[in-house]
Amino acid sequence: MSRVHVIGAGMAGLAAALALVDAGHDVIVYEAGPAAGGRCRSYHDKELDCRIDNGNHLWLSGNRAIAGFLRRVGSEGTLAGPARSMFPFYDAATGEHWTVEPNAGPIPWWVLAPRRRVPGARLREYAGLLALLRAGPDATVADVMPHGALNDRLIEPLVIAALNTAPATGSAALMAAVMRETLMRGGSACIPAFPKDGLSATFIDPALAVLRDAGATIHVGRRISALAVEGGRVATLAAPHGPVTLDVGDGIVLAVPAAVAQSLLPGLTAPEAFESIVNLHYRHDMAPGPVGFVGLLGTTAEWVFVKPGVVSVTISAANRLIDRPASDLAATVWPELCAALGIAKPMPAWRVVKEKRATFAATPAENRKRPGARIGLANLALAGDWTDTGLPATIEGAIRSGQTAAAALESVV
Ligand SMILES: Cc1cc2nc3c(=O)[nH]c(=O)nc-3n(C[C@H](O)[C@H](O)[C@H](O)COP(=O)(O)OP(=O)(O)OC[C@H]3O[C@@H](n4cnc5c(N)ncnc54)[C@H](O)[C@@H]3O)c2cc1C
Repeated sequence: MSRVHVIGAGMAGLAAALALVDAGHDVIVYEAGPAAGGRCRSYHDKELDCRIDNGNHLWLSGNRAIAGFLRRVGSEGTLAGPARSMFPFYDAATGEHWTVEPNAGPIPWWVLAPRRRVPGARLREYAGLLALLRAGPDATVADVMPHGALNDRLIEPLVIAALNTAPATGSAALMAAVMRETLMRGGSACIPAFPKDGLSATFIDPALAVLRDAGATIHVGRRISALAVEGGRVATLAAPHGPVTLDVGDGIVLAVPAAVAQSLLPGLTAPEAFESIVNLHYRHDMAPGPVGFVGLLGTTAEWVFVKPGVVSVTISAANRLIDRPASDLAATVWPELCAALGIAKPMPAWRVVKEKRATFAATPAENRKRPGARIGLANLALAGDWTDTGLPATIEGAIRSGQTAAAALESVV
């Protein structure tokens, strides 16, 4: 057994740590923040007096790394969402409600079924999806997706959610990678899921429990401020309690955000353009219905999640909104929710959470800057949703990056 130091306890660092303890290594995790989880965590909000997620997170059953992670930490029972593939929508411009329901198998007969397909979409528009799947590395989604109802009422909202980047600039190749693993495999690979009681209860707390049981040490509030490199390997970590000297054979997984990795490893090429996500949480009790979320079109709000005691809204690719006052955003979005969900109530207590650098901007140019796990230092592997996972910045990508980093160190430690 040898020792691996994991820097950063977001999803990438935790996935790496799990893979490393499973391979029999001694693992020490250093997390700068007061709690683990990074961008995928819950906390108690004083204003609303309840636990909220830093942002609503949704994923699909085709995300095999997420499924494996949940199995490994024993939290498969903590999920909310429908039992089959269903995506309800509301269009504020027309007042229409509809639900897109891909059938389970890979032959997409749902595109012929009026009650399952996108209203107003023509059959040839579905064929246009093939152009997205064949797109080269320089194409944006808007370059290849044909105009029409399918694009406006399904693909565009999915692209903004999955890439956190508008179709005009978002990488078609990254969206194609998401589609290949989900929609193209049929409805059984695109059953939506989100946490019933919060991100920390589903991902973070169970992972920490498994790691501690396996003998890993988890330090929170321990920011690594420098890496000293000697002879092509990292020899020392600068930590708040003093330097940590690495033994020969010790490994490092560096699982911090891109900008932090660049400050620790000068000269590292990584994405440098980012997109924001704005979440609005309103204290309101309502029944979630069979799905628990709805996509809104023609509104500032994009996806609305009905959770116990809270209705939460996600707005992605939100750089345009980041400087708008929170009170203005809350007052704009609440009437949109009232119309979409049939609520007739004055605006309740609310909280706006702006994540300024929520993910790297998933453009072809930024995608090209993503480094692989190995960057030429003998005992270090990189992880994080911004590394070259072939996927946009998502939980699925973060988990896979951690597993890749752990595997890359196997030959070293
Ligand atoms: C609002 C929002 C909504 C999102 N919605 C979705 C969604 O619906 N579906 C989806 O799949 N994904 C979603 N994502 C993306 C997802 O959250 C991320 O892809 C994932 O959490 C990234 O994990 P990570 O480990 O790569 O990075 P991070 O979570 O950023 O983890 C990095 C960790 O390193 C720590 N750290 C930083 N510097 C140091 C240091 N010097 N020393 C030690 N530790 C350090 C940080 O504190 C942090 O804990 C969303 C993200 C946001 C912000």
